[in-house]
Amino acid sequence: MLHMTPTILKNFFSKSATRLYPVKKREPFDNVRGELDIRIEDCIFCSSCRIKCPAACIEVDKKNKIWQIDPYICVYCGICVDHCPTKCLYFKGDYRAPVAEKAMKIEQKREETQSK
Ligand code: SF4
Ligand code: SF4
Repeated sequence: MLHMTPTILKNFFSKSATRLYPVKKREPFDNVRGELDIRIEDCIFCSSCRIKCPAACIEVDKKNKIWQIDPYICVYCGICVDHCPTKCLYFKGDYRAPVAEKAMKIEQKREETQSK
């Protein structure tokens, strides 16, 4: 035990090796795949993203114009982004915020955006 004393004292008085997240956040790196998002007004509900997704975490409801993803299953591979014909899927350049409970991200195209 005595031989550990210098290490214990050093760790006790030195700066923490970890950040006090989420109070102190690290700036994202360039081209980080932080969070998958969609410009729902450009989605045509073709289901290409759902079909190509290796994690099967996207659901597309063409009739009700709803696109949804389970962000806790997504592996951020980017295949859906590459295969979207309208390029409406993209990665936000920031990390997903911490949450108390897991939930689906649900986007619905509204009537007024359809007429544009
Ligand atoms: S591939 Fe693009 S346009 Fe097609 S359903 Fe997915 S997000 Fe919408
Ligand atoms: S990034 Fe990959 S895992 Fe995530 S939704 Fe797109 S295809 Fe699926």
